[in-house]
Amino acid sequence: MNDCVFCKIVKKEIPTEFLQESKDAVIFKDIKPSAPVHYLVVSKKHISSIKEVEHENEALIGHLVHEAKIAAEKLGLSGYKLVFNVGREGGQVIDHVHLHILGGWPR
Ligand code: AMP
Ligand code: ZN
Repeated sequence: MNDCVFCKIVKKEIPTEFLQESKDAVIFKDIKPSAPVHYLVVSKKHISSIKEVEHENEALIGHLVHEAKIAAEKLGLSGYKLVFNVGREGGQVIDHVHLHILGGWPR
């Protein structure tokens, strides 16, 4: 999508330091962190929301979770939250599927 900020990041049109990149996803720091450690796992394919996920996208969504797990290990997080915000009422602001990795709180 031309005017989608996450598509621009995926296409490297907005310079962003990736923690991780796979064939189907990228991971980078959230610009406005809501936790001491806050990263986003972003699908390379533009799907606007979890609401739009179809059977054919199941593996992709699983991949995002697996990439998050690898990133969390890399970041040394022993515990963390993985969050999909879905729809405006669910707090979703950017209409491109992404998974939040939130952690780093004191025990
Ligand atoms: P959501 O509310 O689930 O749509 O989350 C969107 C997230 O993207 C928010 O936490 C924003 O702080 C973050 N964000 C927006 N623009 C950028 C950007 N250019 N680079 C990194 N994170 C961003
Ligand atoms: Zn997009």
